[in-house]
Amino acid sequence: MSRILIIEDEPALQRALAANFTFDSHEVLTASDGRTGYQMAVDNQPDVVILDLMLPGMSGFEVCRKLRAEGVTTPVLMLTARGEEADRITGLDLGADDYVTKPFSVRELSARVRALLRRANPPHALPDRLRIDDIEIDFRSYEARKSGQPLDLTRKEFHLVQLLVARTGEAVSREEILNKVWGMEVYVTTRTVDTHVANLRSKMERDPRHPEHLITVHGIGYRWAGGTS
Ligand code: CA
Repeated sequence: MSRILIIEDEPALQRALAANFTFDSHEVLTASDGRTGYQMAVDNQPDVVILDLMLPGMSGFEVCRKLRAEGVTTPVLMLTARGEEADRITGLDLGADDYVTKPFSVRELSARVRALLRRANPPHALPDRLRIDDIEIDFRSYEARKSGQPLDLTRKEFHLVQLLVARTGEAVSREEILNKVWGMEVYVTTRTVDTHVANLRSKMERDPRHPEHLITVHGIGYRWAGGTS
């Protein structure tokens, strides 16, 4: 979940964008004029600012320029009007990271916001291997051993363990696990994650009923506990 600040004075567009990003499980903040938007960008530390160019009070250019002058490095995506190439260039010169031209599709805007978020928050590096207790896993060759004997893990199980180990100590939600391990597959639910974790526990844990590594985080998902080397 990221925090997205939308600075847009056109109520219908602001509502549509807010609804879209809320639906994508982001926290959305909105402002309808430049001055308020600028202050919110400074005070609320959003992960991305969507900034309309033509705003009452203070223009999008001015907001962007002031933010950069204050040392705020939050990615800014500017909304410009069709054909105003000079505006786009000025916006990029003033420190905007990207722009879309009105009218735009919400899908395109979402894709660009995702790209900005990825650039700002690079994903956790996935580990190549895991050695814990009597278990050894090589995530690159999909080989696993327990007490020196081959341990039969499915591809999904490899990916699930790898994801949790990459985030050792952190609660990873079922939804995120589904997104990252199952991706676009349609016929899976968060229940699928639970089933796979149960199977993994019976394969990896000393006592599957009292897991030491694949820990349930109630109401959220799972957390990996233990060493990673
Ligand atoms: Ca406007």
